[in-house]
Amino acid sequence: MTGFIEGIEKFDSPGKGRGLRVTRPFKVGELLFSSPAYSYVLSVNERGNSCDFCFNRKEGLARCGKCKKAFYCNAKCQKGDWAMHKLECSAMNAFGENWCPSETTRLVARILAKKKMMKERCVSEKLLLIEELESHLEDEDNEKRERTEADIAGLHRFYPKHLEVPDRNDLLTLFSQVACNGFTIEDDELSHIGTAVYPDVALINHSCLPSVIVTYNCTTAEVRAVQDMKPGDEVLISYIDLLYPTDDRNIRLREYYYFTCDCLECKTKSKDEEKLKVRKQRDPFEPHVVNNMIRYARNTVREFRALKHIRTPSELLEMCEQSLEKMGAVFDDSNVYMLHMMYQAMGVCIYMQDADGAIRYGQKILKPYSKLYPPYSLNVSSMYLKMGRIYMMIERHSEGIRALKKAMAVMEVAHGKDHPFLRGLRKEIGQK
Ligand SMILES: [Zn+2]
Ligand SMILES: [Zn+2]
Ligand SMILES: [Zn+2]
Repeated sequence: MTGFIEGIEKFDSPGKGRGLRVTRPFKVGELLFSSPAYSYVLSVNERGNSCDFCFNRKEGLARCGKCKKAFYCNAKCQKGDWAMHKLECSAMNAFGENWCPSETTRLVARILAKKKMMKERCVSEKLLLIEELESHLEDEDNEKRERTEADIAGLHRFYPKHLEVPDRNDLLTLFSQVACNGFTIEDDELSHIGTAVYPDVALINHSCLPSVIVTYNCTTAEVRAVQDMKPGDEVLISYIDLLYPTDDRNIRLREYYYFTCDCLECKTKSKDEEKLKVRKQRDPFEPHVVNNMIRYARNTVREFRALKHIRTPSELLEMCEQSLEKMGAVFDDSNVYMLHMMYQAMGVCIYMQDADGAIRYGQKILKPYSKLYPPYSLNVSSMYLKMGRIYMMIERHSEGIRALKKAMAVMEVAHGKDHPFLRGLRKEIGQK
């Protein structure tokens, strides 16, 4: 960091390494700072929907005349993107269907090109902090290492030879940095749009009771308070989905970020019982029955993730329904594993354009979501948005507007009232 963001300073956070804290009070919804991306890349699946340069999503984007695979708002955006797009433009033509570097590889190629540009312009890299990002090379397991090897092979295969690829160790470090510090840019319904690196935002440590939330305005990250903050308070975001109970959260944090959280919620586990709620009955379930079902649920979640891109939608829906029936013998409908599978089922229904199915699942998800997530959660607002838009589509307007207004209340804090998402949302609701 940069030192010129008023009200924020870097400090050594006990047990966490570097962190950020505030030096003046911030109110809920207030912007702490915004940060342009050091480097970013639009997801291949998003091509044609969003501008490759500014990430604006709109109709009628113009395509790159050479590769016909990149899309822009106008000539200005195309020109702005060329320094990065030229890394891919002719290779995409040459490889055709076989062009398939991972999104990580694509981002790393851009970082390397950017570093080269900076060097040529004699901009001190220290200023941009990319070198200082944390890496966990030594902690990576074989599976991760294999993935990185495949990514490196992709870099050599699909990218121009004049890209200055560093020696192997530096390259491994860079991939590890991107893995721990990359941010996923998502739309208002949390669909993936791209990946980016924000060195300033990467300084923010994790808590399961976050004080701030990160949203994206085009390719710029914005950090807003979701709790009132007083001078000296650490700036804390959540790195993970906060729906799940303490053990699950920490398994994920260790797997991806190599630490265990010691926030108040992880110490007290105050929401775990509610998150793992079991059905009410006269004789309570034996602990082993509940534990077996939790094990089954975790396996199902993993299995579904692995099969998601392989199986047909109707097969996936059947998987969801079967697991919900089995878990439902022990778990309450508001149990997070039930919610997880309902959420997946809802996604499949949306994909299959089955509005009634999606609404049936969504209605069961909304209330527990609002209870189990912290206030001002994007998971909650995106659920309300999805539901609201489905209701509007099938002309159940009053329910639609009610849901969209719920989403808006969260987003006004998380995104700020002037964010393009909010302007769009006000139009959907029919407000000026
Ligand atoms: Zn644009
Ligand atoms: Zn092109
Ligand atoms: Zn925690």
